[in-house]
This record gives sequence, structure tokens and C-alpha cells, in this order.
Amino acid sequence: MVARRRQAEFIDDLRENWKLVDDMGGLTGKTLPVEVLQAFVNSMLDLMLWGGPQTVITLAEEHFPGEIGKTLTGEQNPFWPYYHHHFGERAPLDYAFTATLGHGLIKFYGPRGGAGLLLRTGYIWWAGPRPEFCVPRSMFDMVKSHQPAPRDEPQTDSLRKFLAPSILAELCQYFPSACDDTLGSLPDSKYAIAFGAFADALADETGIVSRLSHVDDGFAIEFPECPFCLNELDECRVWWGVLQGCYEWLFGAEPDVSPVDESQSTAHRVVISIK
Ligand SMILES: [Zn+2]
Repeated sequence: MVARRRQAEFIDDLRENWKLVDDMGGLTGKTLPVEVLQAFVNSMLDLMLWGGPQTVITLAEEHFPGEIGKTLTGEQNPFWPYYHHHFGERAPLDYAFTATLGHGLIKFYGPRGGAGLLLRTGYIWWAGPRPEFCVPRSMFDMVKSHQPAPRDEPQTDSLRKFLAPSILAELCQYFPSACDDTLGSLPDSKYAIAFGAFADALADETGIVSRLSHVDDGFAIEFPECPFCLNELDECRVWWGVLQGCYEWLFGAEPDVSPVDESQSTAHRVVISIK
């Protein structure tokens, strides 16, 4: 009972702080599922030489300067209930707070170092903290040739763990029998099917919207509402890393070749070259 009252008071305090942030620039009203964000934060911490939960709080304080930064310290920090299991259920965070991760990282490490870390964070977020950096086979070809469902999905939280079942289920709908092989063997439709399945799964499982379109040498995937910077950072490379990891998982990896066309891509519009 005492714990429940403490929790209620605590959430009231938190709302006060959220209001401060709202007055500053506005809450977005959008959140990521707790486990999905947790996987992202774990990937970020996995890359840093210093860390633990306090790192994330430090990044938030980097982002919210002055008085707001001071009020967000300690137990008043919105990241606190996110990390503290003794209250039971953890609270999902508004994008206004998850965006502090990208902004804080760039402030802390500078544009070049920060961009590199965000790229690796995206990649590890997709693949898990101990990814097989070279995936030897292509999920797309396995589904197409009706091989048994893969059983090596990561046990640890990763975006791949959350999205893979939906992506594989959607791919299987395209290949209900061996007669449908022609569809998947056309180069363009193969990528359209696979990345269409990725975009659908991402929206269904995380609420993150993305838009797929054709460009000259491949596909562009746009992310109009990035939870990790609110589309305010030119250096954000999270989605480059995610799509590189997802591409390797879907189609197999070619060593040292990134499918991301760096000359045509911008932070939140990633061009996948299929030449
Ligand atoms: Zn971003």
C-alpha cells in the first residue's frame, strides 16, 4: 500500500517535470514500447566505454540545459522509472525524452564521433548486443524455398527479435507454394516485398512510421518521426545502421559492403542500392 502511494506521488512529480518539458518545446504524445527502447539503450551502452543507466540520464541532462536539466536529476528524471523495477511496471517515454539520446550523444562525442556511434547503435539495435556480424544465409531465400522456419532468433532483446516474426509471416504470405517463385525472383519485387514487410512490422510492433519509395538504383526508406532525435540531427545515423543490419539478415551479408548509398542518403531518408 505504501509502495503504491509512493508510486502515485512519484508519477505526479514526474508529470510536473513532463509539463516543464512540454512548456519548453512540447511533448509529442508518441512513445516506444518499453522493451524496444530498452534494446536501443542497451545497444548504445554496449558501445560506450563508460556507462550504466546513469549514462542515459547524463545524456538527458546534456540535452535539457539550465534549470530544466537540474530538475531532471535524480529520481525526478523521466528515465528513472524506466530503469527502476521496484515500482513494477516501467513507464514508456515520450519521444521528447528518447530524442535526448541522439542529441546528448552528439553533444558529448561531437558530430563525427556521435554519428559513428549512432550508426553502430542502429546496427546492434537491429541485431542484438552480440550480433553475428556476418549472417551466412538469406532469410528471404529460406522463406522463398520453403525451408523450415529459422530457429536461431536472438534471445536477447533486439529490434530483430521484435520484428522478425511479423516480417517472416508477411514474406510467407507471398510464397504460399513453390509456384510463386517468379514473384520473388524479380530483383525489384524481391526488395519491395522484403522492405515493405519491414516497414509494416516496424509500424505494427513499435509505432514508428516509415515510407518506402522507388529511386533510380533501388529504394528509399524515409523516417518522418525519428524517436532518437525528432528529425533534428543531420548526423543521426540510427536508420542507416538498422537497415544495414536488416538487409544482411534478409539477403545475406557481403563482407565490407554496405547496402546504404551514402552519397544519396540523408539522416532520415536512407537509399538502399540494389545495383
Ligand atoms: Zn534521428
